[in-house]
Amino acid sequence: MEALADGSGGSAEAQACLVPRSLYIHVPVCASKCAYCDFFSLPAASWSESRMAGLVDATISRLAGLISRFGCDGFDTVYIGGGTPTALPAALFDRLLSGVAALAASPGEWTVEANPESLDEGAIATMLARGVSRVSLGVQSLDPARLAILGRPHSAESATRALALAAGSGMRVSADLIAGIPWPRGAGGAAEGPSLAEQVSLLLDLGIAHLSVYDLVLEDDTALARAVEAGELEVPQEDDLAEERDGAEAVLSARGFRRYEVSNYAPAGLECAHNLVYWKMGSYIGSGPGAVSTLQATGPSPWGRAAWPSSLRIEEAQEIDGYAKGGAVESPIGTKESAYETIMMSFRTVFGLDKTAFRRRFGIEARSLIGRTLEAWAGQLIETRDSLSLDPGGLDLLNRFLVDCLIELDGTFPAPGQS
Ligand code: SF4
Repeated sequence: MEALADGSGGSAEAQACLVPRSLYIHVPVCASKCAYCDFFSLPAASWSESRMAGLVDATISRLAGLISRFGCDGFDTVYIGGGTPTALPAALFDRLLSGVAALAASPGEWTVEANPESLDEGAIATMLARGVSRVSLGVQSLDPARLAILGRPHSAESATRALALAAGSGMRVSADLIAGIPWPRGAGGAAEGPSLAEQVSLLLDLGIAHLSVYDLVLEDDTALARAVEAGELEVPQEDDLAEERDGAEAVLSARGFRRYEVSNYAPAGLECAHNLVYWKMGSYIGSGPGAVSTLQATGPSPWGRAAWPSSLRIEEAQEIDGYAKGGAVESPIGTKESAYETIMMSFRTVFGLDKTAFRRRFGIEARSLIGRTLEAWAGQLIETRDSLSLDPGGLDLLNRFLVDCLIELDGTFPAPGQS
């Protein structure tokens, strides 16, 4: 990604930031609310079609505004997520995709998230017609009992049917699974239903090219958290969860899928290019209620911190009917926060932290900021001439490593002008 250098287009902001070549669209609509979910999404049945149409049009119009403001000239990656984009009525799903295609012609990778209950032949045909190249399917589990605990609106059979449909379309298919799903207290969940490793094996047989395995996070004020608090369900012990994940990882590794990010697996070259932009601290724009844009400055910040480069974060209002009126919150991100974000995002992947890029951006070596932590974690670090990354055992302990980095960074980060 490059900054505009010739002053030919866009505002001063556009000329001073890495021009975004990635785009995210948030569609806050789902078939129903899952028991563990705290994302911004509303059940489709609570919407009138005209309300949804208004939101689709407002999302496209906001996207056009962001493209113009930041001087975007084409996109390498597009990601339409949510929510469940395929839960839109068919005509509106096509309206959204054709609006995006008109503004973001022929991206190298275009992903659309889908759920099994709404991924049908019609949705696949629309995606192919508009240029979508990748489908990310929320499977979460192939065990009927666990799907019921998660409150998912689909069955294991409909998930495998949707996966086969997507894989047969020629688009690349990614699937999501959840590890560590709580189980009725005392019912011996580990022995019930297909194991995570067996589920992974089934998904691989169906032709997926990418897999995300997320550990379940109990979010406050969700139905699942309340069931655990009430003692109806129990979360697996850490050792059981580690065993579950290790079993799944062994299957993946035997089939050529490497763990390239804490929760993500793919054969080399089939990683999710869009998510890599987040992890490598690229610029991206986001449209739709709750979406986020991050613009990385390349030089003196146009956002009020002249001495040091920083970033601008734009958080779109979580409004449905008022979304067209704007109301996004814009926050300049200071250099120290940007440096921590860079560390936090980079160490998530096996590609790790790019030492040269870090020095160029922040005017200081990463080792000068987190040297003590790097020493303490030396046994789980891989250092090359260009990069620093965690080995597989270190990735399992990522959060502890990041806490150590943050504590150290607090004491070592120089004040502006003192590099
Ligand atoms: S489908 Fe995804 S976004 Fe929608 S309610 Fe379920 S978990 Fe949340």
